[in-house]
Amino acid sequence: MKKRFFLLGILLLLFGYPFLWPLIDALWEPKEPDAAAFPKYKAIRVEKDQIYQGDLLLVNKKEPIHTEAVPSDMILLSSHNYLVEGYCLQDNSIELSENAAKAFNEMVHAASRDNVKDFMIKSGYRSLEKPGKLAEEKGHDDDVLPGCFNEHHLGTALDVTSTQMKIDQSPEGKWLQENAWKYGFILRYPKEKVTITGVPYNPMHYRFVGLPHSAIMQERQLTLEEYVKYLREAKEVSGTINGGDYKIYYDPVATSIMIQVPTNGKYVLSGDKQGGVIVTEFL
Ligand SMILES: [Zn+2]
Repeated sequence: MKKRFFLLGILLLLFGYPFLWPLIDALWEPKEPDAAAFPKYKAIRVEKDQIYQGDLLLVNKKEPIHTEAVPSDMILLSSHNYLVEGYCLQDNSIELSENAAKAFNEMVHAASRDNVKDFMIKSGYRSLEKPGKLAEEKGHDDDVLPGCFNEHHLGTALDVTSTQMKIDQSPEGKWLQENAWKYGFILRYPKEKVTITGVPYNPMHYRFVGLPHSAIMQERQLTLEEYVKYLREAKEVSGTINGGDYKIYYDPVATSIMIQVPTNGKYVLSGDKQGGVIVTEFL
Protein backbone atom coordinates (compact mmCIF):
# COMPACT_ATOMS: atom_id res chain seq x y z
CA MET A 1 0.00 0.00 0.00
CA LYS A 2 2.76 2.44 1.06
CA LYS A 3 4.74 1.47 -2.05
CA ARG A 4 1.75 2.33 -4.23
CA PHE A 5 1.50 5.86 -2.74
CA PHE A 6 5.23 6.29 -3.14
CA LEU A 7 5.03 5.40 -6.86
CA LEU A 8 2.02 7.74 -7.30
CA GLY A 9 4.06 10.57 -5.72
CA ILE A 10 6.99 9.94 -8.09
CA LEU A 11 4.61 9.96 -11.11
CA LEU A 12 3.01 13.21 -9.93
CA LEU A 13 6.40 14.87 -9.56
CA LEU A 14 7.54 13.65 -12.99
CA PHE A 15 4.43 14.43 -15.03
CA GLY A 16 2.23 16.59 -12.85
CA TYR A 17 4.52 19.58 -12.21
CA PRO A 18 3.05 21.75 -15.01
CA PHE A 19 -0.26 21.52 -13.17
CA LEU A 20 1.14 21.58 -9.64
CA TRP A 21 3.35 24.67 -9.89
CA PRO A 22 0.54 27.16 -10.60
CA LEU A 23 -1.29 25.69 -7.61
CA ILE A 24 1.80 26.02 -5.38
CA ASP A 25 2.34 29.59 -6.70
CA ALA A 26 -1.22 30.54 -5.91
CA LEU A 27 -0.85 29.22 -2.36
CA TRP A 28 2.49 30.86 -1.59
CA GLU A 29 2.64 34.14 -3.48
CA PRO A 30 1.10 37.15 -1.74
CA LYS A 31 -1.86 38.42 -3.71
CA GLU A 32 -2.25 42.04 -4.91
CA PRO A 33 -5.39 43.61 -3.41
CA ASP A 34 -8.27 43.41 -5.81
CA ALA A 35 -8.59 46.99 -7.19
CA ALA A 36 -12.20 46.40 -8.12
CA ALA A 37 -13.05 45.42 -4.54
CA PHE A 38 -11.49 48.66 -3.11
CA PRO A 39 -12.09 51.32 -5.79
CA LYS A 40 -10.12 54.56 -5.36
CA TYR A 41 -12.95 56.62 -6.86
CA LYS A 42 -16.70 56.61 -6.57
CA ALA A 43 -19.29 58.24 -8.79
CA ILE A 44 -21.57 60.94 -7.36
CA ARG A 45 -24.34 62.90 -9.03
CA VAL A 46 -23.97 66.69 -9.11
CA GLU A 47 -27.15 68.67 -9.69
CA LYS A 48 -27.37 72.04 -11.44
CA ASP A 49 -27.92 73.86 -8.09
CA GLN A 50 -24.27 73.25 -7.28
CA ILE A 51 -23.31 75.82 -9.95
CA TYR A 52 -24.54 78.52 -7.55
CA GLN A 53 -22.98 77.18 -4.34
CA GLY A 54 -19.46 76.97 -2.92
CA ASP A 55 -16.38 78.92 -1.88
CA LEU A 56 -15.31 79.96 -5.39
CA LEU A 57 -18.49 81.77 -6.42
CA LEU A 58 -17.84 84.98 -8.24
CA VAL A 59 -19.97 87.91 -7.12
CA ASN A 60 -19.29 91.30 -8.69
CA LYS A 61 -21.08 94.05 -10.56
CA LYS A 62 -21.77 91.67 -13.47
CA GLU A 63 -22.48 88.58 -11.38
CA PRO A 64 -25.31 88.87 -8.85
CA ILE A 65 -25.57 86.42 -6.00
CA HIS A 66 -28.16 83.61 -6.15
CA THR A 67 -30.23 82.76 -3.10
CA GLU A 68 -28.76 79.23 -3.05
CA ALA A 69 -25.31 80.70 -2.43
CA VAL A 70 -25.56 81.40 1.31
CA PRO A 71 -23.63 78.59 3.06
CA SER A 72 -25.49 76.26 5.38
CA ASP A 73 -22.88 76.70 8.12
CA MET A 74 -23.57 80.34 9.04
CA ILE A 75 -22.87 81.10 12.70
CA LEU A 76 -23.11 84.06 15.05
CA LEU A 77 -19.45 84.62 15.94
CA SER A 78 -20.14 86.10 19.40
CA SER A 79 -21.82 82.89 20.52
CA HIS A 80 -18.78 80.74 19.65
CA ASN A 81 -16.15 81.82 22.16
CA TYR A 82 -13.51 79.34 21.01
CA LEU A 83 -13.68 80.80 17.47
CA VAL A 84 -13.24 84.43 18.48
CA GLU A 85 -10.24 84.00 20.76
CA GLY A 86 -7.43 86.36 19.88
CA TYR A 87 -9.38 89.08 18.07
CA CYS A 88 -12.26 91.54 18.57
CA LEU A 89 -15.64 91.88 16.94
CA GLN A 90 -16.94 95.32 16.11
CA ASP A 91 -20.33 94.15 17.35
CA ASN A 92 -22.01 90.98 18.56
CA SER A 93 -24.26 90.58 15.53
CA ILE A 94 -21.51 89.57 13.07
CA GLU A 95 -22.17 86.27 11.31
CA LEU A 96 -19.81 84.23 9.14
CA SER A 97 -19.57 80.78 7.57
CA GLU A 98 -18.19 78.47 10.28
CA ASN A 99 -15.65 77.07 7.84
CA ALA A 100 -14.32 80.57 7.11
CA ALA A 101 -14.43 81.48 10.83
CA LYS A 102 -12.30 78.45 11.71
CA ALA A 103 -9.73 79.39 9.06
CA PHE A 104 -9.72 83.00 10.32
CA ASN A 105 -9.17 81.79 13.88
CA GLU A 106 -6.23 79.65 12.78
CA MET A 107 -4.80 82.63 10.85
CA VAL A 108 -5.07 85.00 13.83
CA HIS A 109 -3.26 82.49 16.04
CA ALA A 110 -0.47 82.24 13.46
CA ALA A 111 -0.21 86.07 13.38
CA SER A 112 -0.03 86.18 17.15
CA ARG A 113 3.02 83.91 17.03
CA ASP A 114 4.59 86.69 14.90
CA ASN A 115 3.52 89.17 17.60
CA VAL A 116 0.76 90.70 15.44
CA LYS A 117 -2.28 90.67 17.70
CA ASP A 118 -4.69 93.57 17.19
CA PHE A 119 -7.23 92.24 14.70
CA MET A 120 -10.88 93.16 14.62
CA ILE A 121 -13.64 91.84 12.34
CA LYS A 122 -15.67 94.82 11.30
CA SER A 123 -18.20 93.09 9.07
CA GLY A 124 -19.12 89.62 7.87
CA TYR A 125 -22.28 88.19 6.38
CA ARG A 126 -24.98 90.61 5.26
CA SER A 127 -28.49 89.33 4.73
CA LEU A 128 -30.01 89.55 1.27
CA GLU A 129 -33.30 90.56 2.89
CA LYS A 130 -31.79 93.80 4.18
CA PRO A 131 -29.34 94.80 1.45
CA GLY A 132 -27.19 97.80 2.15
CA LYS A 133 -28.95 98.99 5.32
CA LEU A 134 -26.52 97.47 7.77
CA ALA A 135 -23.58 98.43 5.61
CA GLU A 136 -24.79 102.00 5.32
CA GLU A 137 -25.13 102.28 9.10
CA LYS A 138 -21.62 101.05 9.65
CA GLY A 139 -19.94 102.96 6.82
CA HIS A 140 -18.32 100.03 5.02
CA ASP A 141 -15.77 101.11 2.48
CA ASP A 142 -16.58 98.49 -0.12
CA ASP A 143 -20.25 99.19 -0.61
CA VAL A 144 -19.71 100.50 -4.07
CA LEU A 145 -21.32 97.18 -4.99
CA PRO A 146 -24.94 97.35 -3.88
CA GLY A 147 -27.46 94.66 -2.94
CA CYS A 148 -27.06 91.27 -4.53
CA PHE A 149 -23.82 92.30 -6.29
CA ASN A 150 -21.96 92.54 -2.99
CA GLU A 151 -20.11 89.40 -1.92
CA HIS A 152 -20.72 90.05 1.79
CA HIS A 153 -24.01 88.22 1.13
CA LEU A 154 -21.98 85.03 0.61
CA GLY A 155 -21.01 84.64 4.27
CA THR A 156 -17.37 84.01 3.28
CA ALA A 157 -16.31 87.66 2.88
CA LEU A 158 -15.24 89.80 5.80
CA ASP A 159 -13.78 93.20 6.60
CA VAL A 160 -10.79 93.06 8.91
CA THR A 161 -9.19 96.02 10.60
CA SER A 162 -6.70 96.83 13.34
CA THR A 163 -7.84 98.06 16.74
CA GLN A 164 -4.81 100.40 16.81
CA MET A 165 -4.76 102.21 13.47
CA LYS A 166 -5.94 102.16 9.87
CA ILE A 167 -5.51 98.66 8.46
CA ASP A 168 -3.27 99.68 5.52
CA GLN A 169 -0.82 101.34 7.91
CA SER A 170 -0.95 98.62 10.57
CA PRO A 171 1.18 95.52 11.24
CA GLU A 172 -2.10 93.54 10.99
CA GLY A 173 -2.76 94.77 7.44
CA LYS A 174 0.82 94.10 6.36
CA TRP A 175 0.79 90.63 7.91
CA LEU A 176 -2.50 89.73 6.19
CA GLN A 177 -1.27 90.89 2.78
CA GLU A 178 1.76 88.62 3.14
CA ASN A 179 0.20 85.61 4.85
CA ALA A 180 -3.59 85.40 4.41
CA TRP A 181 -3.22 83.10 1.37
CA LYS A 182 -1.70 80.40 3.60
CA TYR A 183 -5.04 80.10 5.42
CA GLY A 184 -7.39 80.13 2.43
CA PHE A 185 -8.04 83.90 2.29
CA ILE A 186 -7.47 86.39 -0.52
CA LEU A 187 -7.33 90.17 -0.54
CA ARG A 188 -10.30 90.50 -2.84
CA TYR A 189 -9.75 94.03 -4.20
CA PRO A 190 -6.00 94.60 -4.63
CA LYS A 191 -4.59 97.99 -5.62
CA GLU A 192 -3.14 96.83 -8.94
CA LYS A 193 -6.27 94.94 -10.11
CA VAL A 194 -8.92 97.66 -9.96
CA THR A 195 -9.63 97.42 -13.68
CA ILE A 196 -10.39 93.69 -13.32
CA THR A 197 -12.40 93.69 -10.07
CA GLY A 198 -14.16 96.97 -10.86
CA VAL A 199 -13.84 97.88 -7.18
CA PRO A 200 -11.42 100.43 -5.63
CA TYR A 201 -8.52 99.06 -3.57
CA ASN A 202 -9.85 97.85 -0.24
CA PRO A 203 -7.22 96.72 2.31
CA MET A 204 -9.93 95.49 4.74
CA HIS A 205 -11.92 93.17 2.57
CA TYR A 206 -10.87 89.51 2.57
CA ARG A 207 -12.62 86.56 1.03
CA PHE A 208 -12.33 82.92 2.04
CA VAL A 209 -11.79 80.65 -0.98
CA GLY A 210 -9.94 77.81 0.77
CA LEU A 211 -6.69 76.05 0.02
CA PRO A 212 -5.16 75.27 -2.43
CA HIS A 213 -7.02 78.01 -4.35
CA SER A 214 -5.67 80.96 -2.34
CA ALA A 215 -2.11 79.63 -2.76
CA ILE A 216 -2.46 79.28 -6.54
CA MET A 217 -4.00 82.77 -6.78
CA GLN A 218 -1.11 84.19 -4.73
CA GLU A 219 1.52 82.43 -6.82
CA ARG A 220 -0.02 83.51 -10.13
CA GLN A 221 -1.21 86.91 -8.84
CA LEU A 222 -4.79 86.27 -9.94
CA THR A 223 -8.00 87.86 -8.73
CA LEU A 224 -11.04 85.63 -8.30
CA GLU A 225 -12.32 86.85 -11.68
CA GLU A 226 -9.06 85.73 -13.34
CA TYR A 227 -8.73 82.50 -11.34
CA VAL A 228 -12.16 81.09 -12.18
CA LYS A 229 -11.48 81.81 -15.87
CA TYR A 230 -8.05 80.17 -15.54
CA LEU A 231 -9.59 76.99 -14.06
CA ARG A 232 -12.21 76.80 -16.80
CA GLU A 233 -9.55 77.08 -19.48
CA ALA A 234 -6.97 74.82 -17.82
CA LYS A 235 -9.54 72.00 -17.26
CA GLU A 236 -7.19 70.37 -14.74
CA VAL A 237 -4.62 71.77 -12.32
CA SER A 238 -2.60 69.69 -9.87
CA GLY A 239 0.08 70.31 -7.27
CA THR A 240 1.08 69.90 -3.64
CA ILE A 241 -0.07 71.88 -0.63
CA ASN A 242 0.96 71.38 3.00
CA GLY A 243 2.63 68.08 2.06
CA GLY A 244 -0.42 66.61 0.29
CA ASP A 245 -1.30 66.30 -3.38
CA TYR A 246 -4.33 67.99 -4.86
CA LYS A 247 -6.10 67.97 -8.20
CA ILE A 248 -8.59 70.57 -9.40
CA TYR A 249 -10.76 70.11 -12.45
CA TYR A 250 -13.69 71.81 -14.05
CA ASP A 251 -16.82 70.10 -15.37
CA PRO A 252 -19.74 71.81 -17.11
CA VAL A 253 -23.17 70.89 -15.71
CA ALA A 254 -26.23 71.11 -17.97
CA THR A 255 -28.92 69.59 -15.74
CA SER A 256 -26.91 67.07 -13.73
CA ILE A 257 -23.74 65.05 -14.22
CA MET A 258 -21.98 62.11 -12.64
CA ILE A 259 -18.43 62.87 -11.48
CA GLN A 260 -15.70 60.70 -9.99
CA VAL A 261 -14.50 61.66 -6.51
CA PRO A 262 -12.02 59.92 -4.17
CA THR A 263 -13.59 57.17 -2.07
CA ASN A 264 -11.46 57.92 0.99
CA GLY A 265 -9.81 61.28 0.26
CA LYS A 266 -11.44 64.64 0.88
CA TYR A 267 -13.05 66.59 -1.94
CA VAL A 268 -14.74 69.99 -2.18
CA LEU A 269 -17.21 71.15 -4.82
CA SER A 270 -17.86 74.73 -5.84
CA GLY A 271 -19.89 76.18 -8.65
CA ASP A 272 -18.47 78.86 -10.92
CA LYS A 273 -21.88 80.46 -11.57
CA GLN A 274 -21.13 80.17 -15.28
CA GLY A 275 -22.55 76.70 -15.90
CA GLY A 276 -20.00 74.43 -14.28
CA VAL A 277 -18.55 72.92 -11.14
CA ILE A 278 -14.97 73.06 -9.85
CA VAL A 279 -13.93 69.83 -8.10
CA THR A 280 -10.99 69.97 -5.70
CA GLU A 281 -9.61 66.60 -4.63
CA PHE A 282 -7.11 66.02 -1.83
CA LEU A 283 -5.41 62.76 -2.72
ZN1 LIG B 1 -16.09 94.15 2.68
